[in-house]
Amino acid sequence: MTKNPVVKDILKRYAQVWALRHSMAVLGWDTETHMPEGGARPRGIASGQLAVMSQQATIEMEGLVKKAERSKGLDDMEEGVVRELRRSLDYYLKVPPELVDEIQRVTTEATVVWRKARKKSDFKLFEPHLEKIVGLQRKVADKLGYEKHPYNALLDLYEEGFTVADADRVYSRLIPESKRLLARVTQAGVFPSKHPLESASYETEAMVKVNEEVIRVLDMPMDRFRMDVSTHPFTTQIASDDVRITTRYEGKDFKSSLYSTIHESGHAIYGLGIDQKLSYTPVGDGASFGIHESQSRFWENIVGRSREFVKLIDPILRKNLPFLGGYDDEQLYLYFNTVRKNFIRVEADELTYNFHTALRYDVEKKVIAGDVKVAEVPSLWDDTFEDYFGLRPKNDAEGVLQDIHWSGGSIGYFATYTLGNVVAAMIWHKMKDGALVRESLLEGDVVGLKEWLKTNIHRYGAIYTPKELQERAFGEAYNPERLLAYLNRKFLA
Ligand code: MG
Repeated sequence: MTKNPVVKDILKRYAQVWALRHSMAVLGWDTETHMPEGGARPRGIASGQLAVMSQQATIEMEGLVKKAERSKGLDDMEEGVVRELRRSLDYYLKVPPELVDEIQRVTTEATVVWRKARKKSDFKLFEPHLEKIVGLQRKVADKLGYEKHPYNALLDLYEEGFTVADADRVYSRLIPESKRLLARVTQAGVFPSKHPLESASYETEAMVKVNEEVIRVLDMPMDRFRMDVSTHPFTTQIASDDVRITTRYEGKDFKSSLYSTIHESGHAIYGLGIDQKLSYTPVGDGASFGIHESQSRFWENIVGRSREFVKLIDPILRKNLPFLGGYDDEQLYLYFNTVRKNFIRVEADELTYNFHTALRYDVEKKVIAGDVKVAEVPSLWDDTFEDYFGLRPKNDAEGVLQDIHWSGGSIGYFATYTLGNVVAAMIWHKMKDGALVRESLLEGDVVGLKEWLKTNIHRYGAIYTPKELQERAFGEAYNPERLLAYLNRKFLA
């Protein structure tokens, strides 16, 4: 697949890195699904060792990567391979191992403290740890280097090439318009803020059947895919022919289990659609966190929360969940699309979700720049929340302490959730403002939608940067107008 002798060499050497990453993925999956508690310590040690080995094997390829960077006439795939390895090398070579170790130590402790602090709803407990984490991430930014804003270096870790300027452009358009939109939708009163089905209990076995039948509707290839159970649903791509998701069963409010399954299936469909020729290479994964999230959001929201999809899975739901007897399809649709101001991000609906990430983006940007002290974060959080929602969190647990991300050292991640919403709506727009989605679902067949996504996005894996990929597929990148148009059409038309 490559004729260039240097890239050929690189791919031969990369087989080792791939095998290590493959092993780490299996261990990570097992940790969340089947491992007994006692396995945590040895698992941590083994994973740490594998990570070091993978890092060393990558660093040993530096000479070859430099050689490839000097060679001319590389094709897109070859250039992608070199670019991806350069990104890894930059991180490994610029961020010293002592700093990586310190981050590991500090965040392991911080996560434990964060759980306690959230339980007690007391930010003061977490504050010194967050202080350390911000300091360390600031150091990472300095080591990596950046233009204009230190936060750019951190954003780039999750979304290659995405900057403060990009995020400001997206949010400055999205947030004021979403506020207006939310006010109009609330006033119109069509979409309820609460629904009786939210408190309806279900039998786990019945819901397992629903999810199994729904993944069949999504045409998941059962010889290359599997579904298990975990507390926090996730997807892991262990190989191009081995992609796994998890879902959860909480015993009531069945939409939470249903939409976790559809969301993760969206991530899986992406992984399964990557060109098989890219297997075992550095470009055999998705393009970025934002692009990956666009696939899960497309299936969860644009497909899964549409009237046509409700109609499609209606027989499955009614067969397995007898308590739905008194509700027609329109009621189900409204239950799946309740709109309410909620303090908790993970419970947010399509209309309010981006307020939550905008708030976190704003806080992170200011803290990393040193414009705001860590001690001031809770009041900045509450003030911004009040500005967006007209409500003020009553305590730290339903405010600044709700997410695990900061305790794990992730600063720069939250914006990718909104990029997922934005890019999903760009797909909707490209599919003739959703007409292709509606037609496919009315025919009861998602194969055409999957083919579209594979042709335009999936097959390229990480060959292109997320911006290049969007330019090729849509002729534009991170355009918030598409999301606003989609939301307007869905909630006000
Ligand atoms: Mg996701």
